[in-house]
Amino acid sequence: MAQTLFQKVWDLHAVRTLPNGQTQLYVGLHLVHEVTSPQAFDELRTRGWTVRAPERTFATVDHIVPTARQARPFLDLMAESMTSSLERNCRDHGIPLFDLPSGLQGIVHVIGPELGLTQPGMTICCGDSHTSTHGAFGALAFGIGTSQVRDVLASQCLAVMPPKVRRIDVRGTLGPGVYAKDVILTIIGRLGVKAGSGYAYEYAGDAIERMSMDERMTICNMSIEGGARVGYVNPDDTTFAYLENRRFAPAGDAFTRARDWWRSLASDPDATWDDVVTLDAASIGPTVTWGINPGQSVTVDGRLPAPGDVAPADRDGVAEALEFMGFAAGQPMAGTKIDVAFIGSCTNARLSDLREAAKVVAGHHVAPHVRALVVPGSQTVAKAAEHEGLDEIFRQAGFDWRGAGCSMCLAMNPDRLEGREVCASSSNRNFKGRQGSPTGRTLLMSPAMVAAAAIAGEVTDVRQVPVPEAVA
Ligand code: SF4
Repeated sequence: MAQTLFQKVWDLHAVRTLPNGQTQLYVGLHLVHEVTSPQAFDELRTRGWTVRAPERTFATVDHIVPTARQARPFLDLMAESMTSSLERNCRDHGIPLFDLPSGLQGIVHVIGPELGLTQPGMTICCGDSHTSTHGAFGALAFGIGTSQVRDVLASQCLAVMPPKVRRIDVRGTLGPGVYAKDVILTIIGRLGVKAGSGYAYEYAGDAIERMSMDERMTICNMSIEGGARVGYVNPDDTTFAYLENRRFAPAGDAFTRARDWWRSLASDPDATWDDVVTLDAASIGPTVTWGINPGQSVTVDGRLPAPGDVAPADRDGVAEALEFMGFAAGQPMAGTKIDVAFIGSCTNARLSDLREAAKVVAGHHVAPHVRALVVPGSQTVAKAAEHEGLDEIFRQAGFDWRGAGCSMCLAMNPDRLEGREVCASSSNRNFKGRQGSPTGRTLLMSPAMVAAAAIAGEVTDVRQVPVPEAVA
């Protein structure tokens, strides 16, 4: 019978159906970081349990780790304590840890794929909502909470209710200056932030198929912002080329065998989806959020809505967002003054993101009133970017070049907004307080658009920033 990738991978990992209707799923890969794991390990210790599959468990430090001064002990006692706990827990349970001295440290959703740990057909868990990123490889990847981190450590299984599957077909060609970030912001803007609740999203169509793995990761990363806990892309030659020769990917004949199996996992053409949505890629423009959830966005040349412009159920949300942001209905998005520019996070801090942003900033300088920083997604990304001289381009333009980490995505470290600052951010959440200040304001956009805003000092259309011929 024709099946979706979701059904195939789900069935392969289903241990049994629980009395409450949830499925007990075996977990192929558990990624752990310093912030959601200490309590889970403590509970294991208290109950005298061990880690069920340390060979399927990998750890890194990313959420609270400082990105400016990274010498130990960290000045932030909480960061030092959480990092030390993770080190001890990994030692005690035989879990590989990609820490700062490893040279392979980075945001958990950047290093998993980078190391070849993330592979098609896997079930993957991590104590972070944006674990859906790994779905870019044709895996089913679930963000979990601390108590589930404990459960997965102890049993290597996760209890989860089977969702429906919505296929989102993006067809046609993206225009210049339009990136994967614009595509996913548009999907969330059009379908809404709750539409994915109870669904897994399958991203398909020729516009998705043409995307690189970095771009597919950006798309899948933000599935949760549209309400879908899981998002995936069917594996294809782009996926296999990315994985070949990665450290933990199968090698030689094993890779050939794995590739044939991975290919067979893609959704069958005559499979049935619970819902299908189609988007025209050409209709998508550079997109910016203006509100307090990722669905409140307009194209850069658009104007902010009034509560009366939206469906009755959304009116209060629009009014609340306009008030919090201090914006007026009808005001143009372009020209909104910014104070901070942040290029980073597991959504958009991979090498291709930094390359695109560097093209925009080359030959320009950050506006005098803007504080700008680039936080590479991993030490591997940082090294590759430095090898290409991207760090110098950013530094010369007035950006701060940092060590790898989550940084201002969630501001658990000193990288944070102050007061009412407005931040052009390549991250994934614009909730109140997300970037460290309870009154701080976040505008989500692509890294190239962040770069353009940093230079202009205000939201600006990246397509209008002159690119010197040498870097075009
Ligand atoms: S960058 Fe943000 S979303 Fe991504 S793992 Fe870190 S905190 Fe989570």
